[in-house]
Amino acid sequence: MKNLHFLILVFLLPFLITCNSKQSIKHQKPEYALVIHGGAGVILPTDISKEKEKAYFFSLDTALQIGENILKNGGSSLNAVEAVIVFLENDSLFNAGKGAVFTFDGKNELDASVMFGKDKTAGSVAGVTTIKNPIKAARAVMEKSPHVLMVGAGAESFAKEKGIEMVDPSYFFTYERWNSHQKLKKQEVENKDKTDIPVADKKKGTVGCVALDKEGNISAGTSTGGMTNKKYNRVGDSPLIGAGTYADNKSCGISCTGHGEFFIRYTVAKDVAALVEYKNMDIQTAADEVIHQKLGKIGAEGGLVGIDKEGNIVMSFNTPGMYRGYCIPGKRETFIYK
Ligand code: ASP
Repeated sequence: MKNLHFLILVFLLPFLITCNSKQSIKHQKPEYALVIHGGAGVILPTDISKEKEKAYFFSLDTALQIGENILKNGGSSLNAVEAVIVFLENDSLFNAGKGAVFTFDGKNELDASVMFGKDKTAGSVAGVTTIKNPIKAARAVMEKSPHVLMVGAGAESFAKEKGIEMVDPSYFFTYERWNSHQKLKKQEVENKDKTDIPVADKKKGTVGCVALDKEGNISAGTSTGGMTNKKYNRVGDSPLIGAGTYADNKSCGISCTGHGEFFIRYTVAKDVAALVEYKNMDIQTAADEVIHQKLGKIGAEGGLVGIDKEGNIVMSFNTPGMYRGYCIPGKRETFIYK
């Protein structure tokens, strides 16, 4: 009898091992995952000095480390997203917080949003000029108010009330962004641009982050100065939930960057999540469908980063470059060009 059991076990063993390893590969999910972008656009190696390239890689890598430290120690995806974006907002290399682009009138008007995939709560601010870290204000709108989106002076009073650091608008000034603003303004005046759409600064720098924590919660956030020389308090996709940012534990988290007018009309972030949730598409196919097919066909430039509930990461863009990076336990990588 014992021999019979032994024979059955020996016969079944290879079969059992194969089944289990297949299963574990299919369901292999990282304990946590983090992905970031620092804007998509005409970013070419010929346009960036080696020194600047190094600075970008260093910033992206540091941002990932900040987020990873939080996730590794069991922190929430929301805390990771906020900390990463605060770091990128404080870094003048990126078009968010310090380093934001200028409006046609020579101001810096900032937009940011955040969403928590566990309960689909969300918060955003738009057109703010005195909040040092707009992502913190967006989170406060989400957690400390019954609203989702606050704009301009009202958003600033709210942030101040909640003890968020305020700065003089001059804090956001950088020579590099001022010079592109002046250059584009000259071009625009010379070309007597007939449309009200600002001349696009092809080098973008919006920042975004998506994280999946050990509890399986996905969060996404985006922060930007918008598009250079924007007029009339123009607001892009970044502070709009469903357009520039989206997170739902049932599908995925997404943060976008690119020509906001198209991202709003195509509700890009939600569209990717909908393809994942309703069509059962894998996140890479869904993101490529939206970025390369839908937006690609109409010449709308940009990209996105995302993570699905299984921890699969996507970084999809239809421009020559996108500052980006990701990490999962044991692996951290950063990229700039295609
Ligand atoms: N999407 C941003 C906006 O349109 C800009 C960017 O991502 O570069 O405001």
